Amino acid sequence: MPYPHLLSPIRLGPLTLRNRVVMGSMHTGLEDISDPAPLAAFYAERAAGGVGLIITGGIAPNRHGAVYEGAAGLFGAADIAFHQHITDAVHQNGGRIAMQILHAGRYAYTQGCVAPSPIKSPISPFRPRELTSAEVDAELDEFVTAALRARQAGYDGVEVMGSEGYFLNQFLVRPTNARSDDWGGDYAHRMRAPVQAVARIRAALGPDFLIIYRISLIDLIPDGSTWDEVLLLARAMKQAGANVLNTGIGWHESRIPTIATSVPRGAFVHLAARLRGEDILPVIATNRINTPDLAEDILARGHADMISMARPFLADSAFVAKAAAGQAAQIAPCIACNQACLDHTFSGKLATCLVNPRAGRETKLRYTPAPQPKRITIVGGGAAGMMAAIVAATRGHQVTLMEAMGALGGQLNLAKQVPGKEEFIGLLDWFTSELLRLRVQVHLNQRADVPDLRGADEVIIATGTAPRALAIDGASRALTYADVLRGAAVGARVAVIGAGGIGFDVAEYLATGPHHPSRDLTMWQRAWGVGDPVMQAGGLAVPQPMAPARHVTLMQRKTGKLGRGLGKTTGWIHRAGLAAKGVEMLGGVQYRAITPQGVLIAQNGTERLVQADTVVVCAGQISQRDVADRAIAAGLKVHLIGGADTASELNAQRAIAQGAELAARL
Ligand code: NAP
Ligand code: SF4
Repeated sequence: MPYPHLLSPIRLGPLTLRNRVVMGSMHTGLEDISDPAPLAAFYAERAAGGVGLIITGGIAPNRHGAVYEGAAGLFGAADIAFHQHITDAVHQNGGRIAMQILHAGRYAYTQGCVAPSPIKSPISPFRPRELTSAEVDAELDEFVTAALRARQAGYDGVEVMGSEGYFLNQFLVRPTNARSDDWGGDYAHRMRAPVQAVARIRAALGPDFLIIYRISLIDLIPDGSTWDEVLLLARAMKQAGANVLNTGIGWHESRIPTIATSVPRGAFVHLAARLRGEDILPVIATNRINTPDLAEDILARGHADMISMARPFLADSAFVAKAAAGQAAQIAPCIACNQACLDHTFSGKLATCLVNPRAGRETKLRYTPAPQPKRITIVGGGAAGMMAAIVAATRGHQVTLMEAMGALGGQLNLAKQVPGKEEFIGLLDWFTSELLRLRVQVHLNQRADVPDLRGADEVIIATGTAPRALAIDGASRALTYADVLRGAAVGARVAVIGAGGIGFDVAEYLATGPHHPSRDLTMWQRAWGVGDPVMQAGGLAVPQPMAPARHVTLMQRKTGKLGRGLGKTTGWIHRAGLAAKGVEMLGGVQYRAITPQGVLIAQNGTERLVQADTVVVCAGQISQRDVADRAIAAGLKVHLIGGADTASELNAQRAIAQGAELAARL
């Protein structure tokens, strides 16, 4: 049997789970709409895909504990009825599901938020109201009410959210708990609230209900919990009646990335392993685990009892079924980009997935068998073209894909060169192997034109973009980002023109050099200041940034902070990474000329030279539509997707979604 550890059953308190895979809690946004069908379909597909235990997105025990105004909660009969649809859908598909009880405390994005102490979080504009002693008691009882309602709604258990800096976690550490009553003071008192929450749930629900406690292993905030405190809490949770410890890494306000793609895979598993070594309760390992091989390895080494993966189940609902069938190469990989999931959530949009546009849209975007198989020719083997080919072939169409270069991938080939974006390599592998499996006829080194397209029932043009050239003196002296990422020689001082996603990526590539911390855990920990909670409370060490490989100046014409348009949840990581490498960032720049000495600019009315041996232009793209124009003129039935359709603000997410949506319709 493939993955014998991962796929072996496990008994957790009252439940026997079919395998050791947990789909970790994720907020999709579907929780907050009145129709339960889309959320039920989302979970049903994951249950049918074989996951052992699903944990829902965070459900608030009361309105002021909700993450934001109107966020999902379990407040009464209507909510119970909504959740019954979810649990039925999961159970009908052979799955098990626990509901996460999430009280946000001071992280609740509302005026009425409450917390152990009236101390504002650095990531929220709202100062919480301090709860009285009796109110703390009442809040904990609401955890019990939520658990009772969860059972009524058919859930197999609850996860009590005690990590990531939410309400219960806020009791544990002094920076957020300055109380002097029974809920504060020394650690024994600071941990009373989380322990009481679990103990009261157990007392009210009896032994036949799964209780998971999500414990923070490393807070990554100043004066966070020590390792001794983590162990005290873990033991107290066992006494209180928890069946299993899920693990949490870092508070949301921490300035250390914990799940972004630049975090090495399995970066925090050593902490789960250390907790498991104490033999207190079964332990679930989490964070940056995205392949069955890594998950199996963690279990085989005895580092955890179960593996939690969240975003990988957005990327592929059949992750477990494919692993079990020995088809791991077919699993669409989560590249940890956050672009379509967390960035959407934090922008008030429904979560989906860059790699899998069906995620969260199961009832709307379906890849049904084509009523009439067609001959479809696709020009361009970048992200948009490859996705269109995969979906069209899945539906039974006869697909030919023509690519002008000697390799598939288009811009993905550039992205994969960027330090911290190595996950793109796996994504490209997946695209390529799926095209092969689905028998798409791929023609490399074929610059297609009208004669090649005649005879097709449908023509899809996905020819992508070309870098925008600058119209200033000396522009021909500059390299394009594509030249640089394909390995062109670059000097010791570099000026980068344009500070969008690609400008940032190129600056990272040039300042980092060949040794990528994302591939080396020790180097990554040093660079970000990730320590050991045994040695430093909260696990914070002094960062020791790497020496930059080059001096880089990054420029844009807009005034204000560079990188504003980067991902909502990852932009700060890119900015901090470049700042640590001494990258100089200039806004409000006008480019006058590129000279042998660098770039002549004007800033605040003053001209000056930004000295550089190499100048790289990352000033956006223009669509490549020549073939499209000729095909349309020849009267062919043409569909434009990706960068060929529109280059402005194009990204892989939009390209892939557009390819999938078109192919689902043809
Ligand atoms: P972009 O994000 O649109 O940025 C283009 C940059 O070029 C801007 O800094 C713009 O700033 C500058 N620019 C535009 N026209 C110019 C001109 N005529 N002369 C000089 N400068 C000019 O495009 P991109 O960086 O090429 O990225 C393409 C897409 O890929 C984006 O949608 C991006 O989201 C995505 N992507 C994202 C990431 C990421 O989030 N990490 C990484 C790579 C790519 P000024 O106009 O202020 O000068
Ligand atoms: Fe993973 Fe990116 Fe998809 Fe989110 S959008 S699930 S991070 S691949």
